[in-house]
Amino acid sequence: AQAPDNLDAFWLPFTANKAFKARPRLLASASGMYYTDIEGRQILDACAGLWCVNAGHARPRIVEAIRQQVGTLDFAPNFAMASPLPFKLAERLAELAPVDLNHVFFTNSGSESVDSAMKIALAYHRVRGQGQRTRFIGREKAYHGVGFGGISVGGLPNNRKWFGPGLPGVDHLRHTLDLERNAFSKGLPVHGVEWAEELERLITLHDASTIAAVIIEPISGSAGVILPPQGYLQRIRQLCDKHGVLLIFDEVITGFGRVGKAFASQRFGVTPDLMTTAKGLTNGCVPMGAVLVSDGIFETFMQGPDNVIDLFHGYTYSGHPLACAAALATLDTYAEENLFEKAIELGDYWQAGLHSLKGLPHVVDVRNFGLIGAVEFAPRPDAHPGARGFEAFTRAFNEGQMLTRITGDVLALSPPLIVEKAHIDRIFNTLAEIIPKLD
Ligand code: PMP
Repeated sequence: AQAPDNLDAFWLPFTANKAFKARPRLLASASGMYYTDIEGRQILDACAGLWCVNAGHARPRIVEAIRQQVGTLDFAPNFAMASPLPFKLAERLAELAPVDLNHVFFTNSGSESVDSAMKIALAYHRVRGQGQRTRFIGREKAYHGVGFGGISVGGLPNNRKWFGPGLPGVDHLRHTLDLERNAFSKGLPVHGVEWAEELERLITLHDASTIAAVIIEPISGSAGVILPPQGYLQRIRQLCDKHGVLLIFDEVITGFGRVGKAFASQRFGVTPDLMTTAKGLTNGCVPMGAVLVSDGIFETFMQGPDNVIDLFHGYTYSGHPLACAAALATLDTYAEENLFEKAIELGDYWQAGLHSLKGLPHVVDVRNFGLIGAVEFAPRPDAHPGARGFEAFTRAFNEGQMLTRITGDVLALSPPLIVEKAHIDRIFNTLAEIIPKLD
């Protein structure tokens, strides 16, 4: 493979982050834990693509399932005629998910899952005669994709700033990062549950009867791996119940094993009313997302006076046969190789590696949970925010041949769950080498 000679003319930087306006390194192939670029260099994938290739790249079973499916039934409209695969997959997802979440709405991405979950929440209140419940509460720094709902409830101003005020009626809870920074946290922070009380203030500020739902990433990923203080999510759940507000967990990153269970809600023992997923659902091979919906919400729709089950919401590619085939093969792979358990088995080793970076110059915090890690750097006072993080990312890439993820001054790590101790050693040895050299 060769670089196309028109790259500069057609390359559209898809992020507003100036740091990324560099030309991308072009990839030729991927297998297992590695990418190979068009010059034949191998790159260790320390972030599972974009937190999605949880079973590692180009797994033969998944590849074969997609190949077979495209030659058998390539598309089904899912109205008068449907493929059986989405039904099969929905059943598998309901088995994996927390007990109450037994109904599935298929989408094509995390962003679509978030917008769909918000619409389902609005319709649920309306069918119950509480159509005035239209407000949402998100969190500062949260990332919920780039749909219009997602950028509104999301808490990253950069994602919103070019697009006007966003949806009306959205508030944001304070994030809890400041509680943890400098703590070199081990697992979940012990302090900070009281920060959940702010939810009560926001709910009552506008009158509880106007609030539709609270949306939260159990662990904020794109914001720089912010772990919930112990008891925080439980308290959020209690407050939602008290005020008749739905709780949406955005598990686009935390879903499918990265935290040691299928979903973070199971690891934290808190069940939301709706759960958004994508990424690891198909091991990143085919775009797909899913919203899991509780029995209570589903039954309300079935009994609703407005026949809202006829609400017009669905995508051409909802439950696409190729995506379903990929997802079913992916779930089989996770189960057969016990990949969700690996995040627990390797958790201590992973943590030890990450914590060996404490005390290096510029490092102000490290955070980990399951097979997620974050290294936070002190910002460079003389440079734009995120400059040091970006330098770390670039050095890891160029000097260590290793792909990581960068948000501001936080380097995030989320390797495929097939990672082995030797890869973990390489990840942290590389970082130990490059971090002292940062400006
Ligand atoms: N929610 C969360 C928590 C995410 O991390 C992401 C993507 N990183 C999204 C939603 C959006 O997913 P997608 O990019 O597939 O639209």
